[in-house]
Amino acid sequence: MRARPDVVVVGAGIVGLSIAYHLARRGASVTVLERSGIGAGASGVQPGGVRQQWGTRVNCLLARESMRFWADAGELLQMRLDPGFRSCGYLFLAHSGKALLRLQDNVSLQNELGIPSRIVAPLEAAELVPGLDTAGVVGGAWGDQDGYFDRPHSLVEAFGALADVQIAEVVGVGDEGVVRLAQGAELRADAVVVAAGVDTPRLLPELPIRPEARYLFLSDPIRERLLEPLIVSPERSLAAKQLADGRLLASDLGALGDPETKQAVWRANVRSAVEELLPQLVFVALPTLLAGTYDVTPDHQAILGRVRERVWVAAGFSGRGFMLAPAVGRVIAESVLGDREDPVLSVLDAGRFAEGRAVPEPQVV
Ligand SMILES: Cc1cc2nc3c(=O)[nH]c(=O)nc-3n(C[C@H](O)[C@H](O)[C@H](O)COP(=O)(O)OP(=O)(O)OC[C@H]3O[C@@H](n4cnc5c(N)ncnc54)[C@H](O)[C@@H]3O)c2cc1C
Repeated sequence: MRARPDVVVVGAGIVGLSIAYHLARRGASVTVLERSGIGAGASGVQPGGVRQQWGTRVNCLLARESMRFWADAGELLQMRLDPGFRSCGYLFLAHSGKALLRLQDNVSLQNELGIPSRIVAPLEAAELVPGLDTAGVVGGAWGDQDGYFDRPHSLVEAFGALADVQIAEVVGVGDEGVVRLAQGAELRADAVVVAAGVDTPRLLPELPIRPEARYLFLSDPIRERLLEPLIVSPERSLAAKQLADGRLLASDLGALGDPETKQAVWRANVRSAVEELLPQLVFVALPTLLAGTYDVTPDHQAILGRVRERVWVAAGFSGRGFMLAPAVGRVIAESVLGDREDPVLSVLDAGRFAEGRAVPEPQVV
């Protein structure tokens, strides 16, 4: 047997590709099997938001490590064009004492783990976000390192360019590293990693991952810069940001259901929150509805680690797989190669649901 095993990764989204990258760097021979194309799933939809402001230790740690990778991504991924990370800052708003207390708890945890976020008073929030109406705001949490990639999909492609990606649909993953392909062929690998996003339960039906439709509204490009930091108001159900190309991105965080019938309600919710908080945006039309799917678990946290003999999983990212992918790639690669079991794996393992160890993330967007 070779010193380093052959590994098959299922799924060429950002997570599977990052795992392949970290495995290859450690000397493994890796093949990524993808049924459609690089970035064909959620990784090709997401707009590239990256933040370290989380309310659970595991997410803070994974986000902090990933942020370091993202800072050097152009060089590490041998990119010819800068993917354009802009640390515009994320401002979480509180409209009640209870919400502010929650933000304070999260900021304490983040600071303890080396993340430089802080609580701001309404006056400072108004200075950070020109035009923000703070009449109903009691405070906020600010992270000035959080931000957005101008070209997030170029990162998915850059990871893809460094990997051996084969187009093939996987229809079964057995114990002992057997991978069954749609064409009828079978492969045998020393290790298999399933990173198939929302379709992961088709291969590993024992995992509690379900699809959740998510929607973002987009304006046409606007020349003036109207909203620089990203703002999130969980109590007003609003997240908004102006992208580098000038389009305003806004979402009703509670948008659930059929877009045909509900779209007008979501748009009205966004409009009413914008009227209250960002009056400079009231005349911005939001004609485009961008739809995508989150792969969601019961506690809105990923499932990571070994689930069967020679089979690992990294899925269920519940809306944050892009930003966490670098650290997740490292953690899974080390586990597959038997180098190290990162402590994150004993928190985000598949067994936590049955054993009452769920770790709900309070700072979900
Ligand atoms: C609207 C929206 C906005 C988002 N915004 C952000 C954000 O700002 N920041 C952030 O960090 N995250 C964001 N996310 C979440 C992020 O996009 C996902 O968590 C991340 O892309 C998941 O990556 P993945 O590689 O796990 O899955 P995917 O990108 O879905 O990749 C899975 C791949 O597996 C392939 N596949 C599936 N089944 C098989 C099979 N049987 N055989 C072979 N191949 C298979 C699929 O074709 C696909 O290419 C957002 C998501 C949505 C929908």
